[in-house]
Amino acid sequence: MSMLFRNLPSMDQLLAALEVDRDIADLPRLLVKNLGNEFLDICREEIRSGAITEEEQLSLEALLPRLMAYVRSQSRPHFRRVLNATGVVIHTNLGRSLLAKSAIAAVAEACGHYSNCEFDLSTGRRGSRYSHVEKLLCDITGAEAALVVNNNAAAVFIMLETFAKGKEVIVSRGQLVEIGGSFRIPDVMSKSGAILKEVGATNRTHAHDYENAIGDNTGALMRVHTSNFRMVGFTKEVSLPELCELGDKYDLPVIEDLGSGTLYPLQDVGLADEPTVQQVVAQGADVVSFSGDKVLGGPQAGIIVGRKEYIDRIKSNPVNRAMRIDKMTLAALEATLRLYLDMDEARHKVPTLRMITASPEALKSKARRLADVIRLELGDMVSVGIKKGFSRVGGGAFPEYDLPGTMVTVVLKNISVGDLKSALLDTDPPLVARIEDDAFLLDPRTLASTELKLTASALKQAVSLLTRK
Ligand SMILES: *Cc1c(COP(=O)(O)O)cnc(C)c1O
Repeated sequence: MSMLFRNLPSMDQLLAALEVDRDIADLPRLLVKNLGNEFLDICREEIRSGAITEEEQLSLEALLPRLMAYVRSQSRPHFRRVLNATGVVIHTNLGRSLLAKSAIAAVAEACGHYSNCEFDLSTGRRGSRYSHVEKLLCDITGAEAALVVNNNAAAVFIMLETFAKGKEVIVSRGQLVEIGGSFRIPDVMSKSGAILKEVGATNRTHAHDYENAIGDNTGALMRVHTSNFRMVGFTKEVSLPELCELGDKYDLPVIEDLGSGTLYPLQDVGLADEPTVQQVVAQGADVVSFSGDKVLGGPQAGIIVGRKEYIDRIKSNPVNRAMRIDKMTLAALEATLRLYLDMDEARHKVPTLRMITASPEALKSKARRLADVIRLELGDMVSVGIKKGFSRVGGGAFPEYDLPGTMVTVVLKNISVGDLKSALLDTDPPLVARIEDDAFLLDPRTLASTELKLTASALKQAVSLLTRK
């Protein structure tokens, strides 16, 4: 065995052999060298484990194809485009919302040039970063004032830190949720310095539960959207107008964490009864927060709207500086919000809304087209079917709510669905989809029309990866 180690090619030999490949020759030398070292380590491990037993297996000619494939696959940028065939529109692991075309253009403009990011062009002096979106947010939601921070988690934190540090915040027991990614309302609250005052029972909370808990050290009343969690049966929560009445009576701010939040009235398209941000503002919430990249369909951001006196206090909180959004986010958010000045335009141009509200007919025809290109690309290796199924909004919005659509099922000769699913993580671009009832399922809702060919080509690459072995 120790003799075999000596037969490994040298790094110089590896580098010289790799040079002949134009693409690899263009890569930074340090990167190629490190990958060469990793590859030699893999070979050493294979000698140790007995996978390599012959001298010939270690010749440069024998190793080169594998080495090249290794360098090619490992030298790709880590952050990559992925085909989302899961049907989950707001897929947090796959980057949540896609931006509208105008928002993408605004980002490119903002980062390729200097801008009036914090510069007031009417006075030639320093301006406010928020001015670009505050008026739009107020016009759309009807709120008096607005500001934007990094994400909704930050928004919740800064609202609590501003209004309730060292004070009690009254929250219903039924709303003390964990929404995933370790974001738990009680934990955020304790980090902000606010003292959690839980009221009610797990399933039922009444207005008098809040009222009885109000005392000298109460800082705020808070409602939290339960997001990806639902309680059914004998349940009760206090409505926002009722809570606002209490807030007025005791002069306490009412904070609402809407979670996803939506500016578009999705009830109109048959989705569960979710109030819009406009409605929540109209009902009297003092400060409302929601995400920029969930149903809104913009960049990652935490949006806070509400009464001017409260928003001003948050703006002047020094913590705000640590949570401020960058110019790319600002540009994308402004462009996205502009689309909401006309709700029809928003529905057609904001990809997240477009995907959520896609018509059953459009989805069916897209599924047929996808099935056709897959048949064309893979021929008799594949049997493709079409069936009714369901997609999800995702992002904690509308949990348990199924969006009806049409799915494409794929069965490959002599290849298991599990093997196919993992091989598709290695294609270019990788493809993520579902396995349902032992079938491999592609949901066209989350694939752009321009991605159908790429999807078929990913399947073909996966087959060749699996049959090569
Ligand atoms: C998603 C969500 C958050 C966190 O929002 P991010 O934008 O992901 O930081 C907070 N609260 C609720 C209820 C949510 O659904």
